[in-house]
Amino acid sequence: MITVQRVAKAAGKHATRAMLRLRTALGARKDRACPACGQMVVGFFLYGDNGEWGCPQCGASPRERLMNWLIGEGRIRVPVDGAILHMAPNEASLVRRFSAASDYVPADLHPDIYPVPHMRRVDLMELGDEGRYDLFYASHVMEHVPDDGAVLRNIHRALKAGGEAWLVVPLWDKPTEDGSFDMPPRERERRFGQWDHVRQYGPDFADRIRAAGFYLEEIDASSIDPDIRRLYALDDRLFRARKPMADAAA
Ligand SMILES: [Zn+2]
Repeated sequence: MITVQRVAKAAGKHATRAMLRLRTALGARKDRACPACGQMVVGFFLYGDNGEWGCPQCGASPRERLMNWLIGEGRIRVPVDGAILHMAPNEASLVRRFSAASDYVPADLHPDIYPVPHMRRVDLMELGDEGRYDLFYASHVMEHVPDDGAVLRNIHRALKAGGEAWLVVPLWDKPTEDGSFDMPPRERERRFGQWDHVRQYGPDFADRIRAAGFYLEEIDASSIDPDIRRLYALDDRLFRARKPMADAAA
């Protein structure tokens, strides 16, 4: 569905991307860097209300750069000797990193739209695979699922003890607002920013993750050293959920 909002966003993106290309061609100093592609860049292009959204070299978003930076720093670890379920794998740098795993499963409800080999169709509402995964990664997925409580419990069940779910969602400062697929797409777009979003998360997303049985660490870009954050134009927040090693109730 193409809307005025999206067309305006895309136009701003193309204009600033062209400007960055011109500045690069004119020899502007490359004093910024992208942890997703490893390139030095003159700056980042605008998207929506974020003036430093995309990498002009590889297109990486702030959340894709944040994930790569955290992995590169060793703050979070990719279990290359284990199993990874990668939902909606449209971040190329993370496909590269995760596909090194011995059991890599790229998946989506609509697998055909991804140029990733061996895509599997997975409906998170009916996720099986009990105790299979060391890592579950889903960026901008949870705001699309009909019942996020059920999906979080499914993810918990699909993880091994000690396994982690790395979740990124669009956030605002207010409490989470839930919608449903019974609402007209126009209303979902108005309330949640995109026609196929069924809710808008706030910081209380954390409570929903804990309620599914996870330990939770929140890693927000605002907690990163300001010089480092500026260098890589890092933004967004990772909800790092860990399944306990053993049942605490025992
Ligand atoms: Zn890049």
